[in-house]
Amino acid sequence: MRLRVGRFAFTVRAVTTMPVNMPDQVNELRYVSTRGSAPELGFEDVMLTGLARDGGLYVPQTWPQLTPTEIEAFSGLPYAQVATRVMELFVGSDIPQDEFSELVEAAYATFSHDAVTPLVELGPDQWLLELFHGPTLAFKDIAMQLLARLMDRTLQHRKARATIVGATSGDTGGAAIEAFAGREAIEIFILHPHGRVSDVQRRQMTTSSAENVHNIAIEGTFDDCQALLKALFNDHERRDRWSLAGVNSINWARIMAQSVYYFVSAVALGAPGRPVNFCVPTGNFGDVFAGYAASRMGLPINRLVIATNVNDILVRALKTGRYEPNKVVATSSPSMDIQVSSNFERLIFEAAGRDGTRVCQLMDTLAGQGGFSLSEDELSSLRGLFSAVTVDETEVENTIRDVARDTGYVCDPHTAVGLAAARRTKSDGAPMVTLSTAHPAKFPDSVEAATGKHPDVPPRLEQRLGADERYTVLENDYGVLTDFIESRASTVSELT
Ligand SMILES: *Cc1c(COP(=O)(O)O)cnc(C)c1O
Repeated sequence: MRLRVGRFAFTVRAVTTMPVNMPDQVNELRYVSTRGSAPELGFEDVMLTGLARDGGLYVPQTWPQLTPTEIEAFSGLPYAQVATRVMELFVGSDIPQDEFSELVEAAYATFSHDAVTPLVELGPDQWLLELFHGPTLAFKDIAMQLLARLMDRTLQHRKARATIVGATSGDTGGAAIEAFAGREAIEIFILHPHGRVSDVQRRQMTTSSAENVHNIAIEGTFDDCQALLKALFNDHERRDRWSLAGVNSINWARIMAQSVYYFVSAVALGAPGRPVNFCVPTGNFGDVFAGYAASRMGLPINRLVIATNVNDILVRALKTGRYEPNKVVATSSPSMDIQVSSNFERLIFEAAGRDGTRVCQLMDTLAGQGGFSLSEDELSSLRGLFSAVTVDETEVENTIRDVARDTGYVCDPHTAVGLAAARRTKSDGAPMVTLSTAHPAKFPDSVEAATGKHPDVPPRLEQRLGADERYTVLENDYGVLTDFIESRASTVSELT
């Protein structure tokens, strides 16, 4: 017998005498920190909190499960309906079901393709999953359009305001600004590394005229921006006073939203009856961790390929067990120019048997000694599902050119990293889905260098690029940053 209690469906055996209408007994999903000592929270608090108070990242206490029958039933459903079914398992009763599905519908109605994330066949068992049909033509829109609506809903419900601070290596900022611009309950500050994002990416952020949008160009790398962000979230006094909330991929709600297209695409290719492989252009490890989450929920994924550019800390870690950041190298795929992949901590937590003490120890070693080593057991558990491939700049350019020549399909450099890695992964007979994370028009110079042709610019993008820019350049200094935010943040005293 299937019962629906609150927002959870679960199976009750005929022999149990289970009273219905007992909301207290609904098995609500809680979230725990990867470092083991921050308080357990429910979905909305996790969404508003970002980084946990012990410096860790929130993960579900247990992985919600979808049975093969439930997964099979996704076949043929519109994207937003699958999204609602997958994500309600993570949201629990925090947001009423009707309201949640309306927010999900509204988020994906902003996409210009009916399928939201269409699949394109490039060759036998080689597929591309286009994730760039949102308002900023970046896959970040998928999570951000939903996150902005969920946060706004929660804050209004609580009669609260929040200050969002995010760091971006490119696409997150544009997608966040697009999604949060003009939302009443929120001031948003986005840090980007000065001179290290593409022209298009910068303009997508800095041309917003919304009063609540504050663009900051930090004189440093993306990792410097991320370090400043971490420092802010560990500064509990300011964090509370400003009601800081994060929208970087450490925010669980983003991972949750990204797990949906793994289900949608795998089911379209025959899952759960047939397993699928994914190849994921990776930077901060959020997207590929969403694939891991889908796998833990019951989606049959044989292999998750981590595709990186020459900033290949993850490839080295998987090969040798040694996680050790190098200097960041600027490449044609700037959204992946990252050496400290924040979400990797979530995977380490899993590999370490969910032992927060062990994660703390590894992270302390990273901070103190510039690197750490995984144990043999941890490493072999990772290698069971993940493999990792480095793609250099020459191969990126060759891939864009070869794919265009052989199939007529023009891809951006991030997607090319994925396609090159997929090409180098031995087939196991299951379809390989490479995630396409950006529209080629966002990286016209690389595309033109490889193909000789300037990619077509969609009207949606063109309109934005002509507008005036607004941003402030700040030195890479915590005090300078906090002074800047202080004069503009939402403060608790504004709460009524
Ligand atoms: C953010 C981004 C990535 C990397 O995704 P992660 O979740 O950080 O691993 C890849 N490609 C593009 C275009 C992106 O914007």
